[in-house]
Amino acid sequence: MMHMVHRVGKGLEAGVAGESMLGGTGGFMLELEGKTALVFGVASEESIAWAICEQLAAAGCKLILGFQKRFMSRVFQLKEKLDAIEAFYPIDVSTNELTAEFFTEWQAESHGAKADIVIHAIGFAPQECFDRPILFVENEPINAAMTVSAHSLQRLMRHALPHLAPNSSTITLTYAASTRWVPNYGVMSIAKAALEAWTRELANHVGPDGHRINAISPGPIPTLAASGIPGFDDILDHVERNAPLRRNVNQKDVAGCAAWLASPLSSGVTGQIIHVDAGYSSIMVPDSISD
Ligand code: NAD
Repeated sequence: MMHMVHRVGKGLEAGVAGESMLGGTGGFMLELEGKTALVFGVASEESIAWAICEQLAAAGCKLILGFQKRFMSRVFQLKEKLDAIEAFYPIDVSTNELTAEFFTEWQAESHGAKADIVIHAIGFAPQECFDRPILFVENEPINAAMTVSAHSLQRLMRHALPHLAPNSSTITLTYAASTRWVPNYGVMSIAKAALEAWTRELANHVGPDGHRINAISPGPIPTLAASGIPGFDDILDHVERNAPLRRNVNQKDVAGCAAWLASPLSSGVTGQIIHVDAGYSSIMVPDSISD
């Protein structure tokens, strides 16, 4: 059996504040120096979670990554790029047991370690969810999409809770199709609506103990997950033409918001859905209607 626990060199000092896109003193302003982040959802350099890793590292965080075994070789190639990455452990959030694996392995190597930040940047729906008209998608693929893309936040929190540092911050990634129709997003819209409800439910469950949970809702960004959505390029074109900022957002835009949500600067914010979408969600009738 493959050995799945891999520790890499510690190098917190490499995550200097000067590298932060928030400016020379950004890391110190964010008060994230020395904090530990568990990051779930890195599959490639294009992953939103990877940009969040870079931003948190620049602010002085130590990173522990959970990776899906099918992306293991890609993720391991990335470890050289960020000294702040302390360890990798496998995770599959589709079941309780496979979610537990990450926490068992992490705690076996770092007994009693605590996490200040948890990033849940996970989404998946079987291709059938996109290929069939929504009325005819069978239960099995719907359930697979729901359990990985929505209910996994609850499973992850259940296992993380005993290992959370005081005043921790958890961030998940959603999409605005949760509340308004988007072509071809189909079952994932339902999963994102459930994920947003989980965000509010869990924020209220852990809030009395000082822990926060929020969701960022990015505009469309070309990543592996997005590549499975038919017509995605048309959505990118449309947003670029019509969003108030007349551009699409990128992974760094999302990472900046994530760093703020991770930091005590956002200490009064929980249970929220925060749009990082160049303002697109504020529009009802696009300016281009008169073209
Ligand atoms: P990505 O493909 O880089 O990341 C998706 C991640 O989900 C991968 O790392 C994959 O390993 C992980 N994953 C899938 N199934 C899993 C499982 N069973 N167990 C553990 N991990 C699993 O794509 P991304 O765009 O960076 O996606 C990150 C999040 O952002 C997703 O929730 C996605 O829905 C959300 N989001 C993306 C966009 C976009 O346009 N890219 C827009 C809004 C929201």
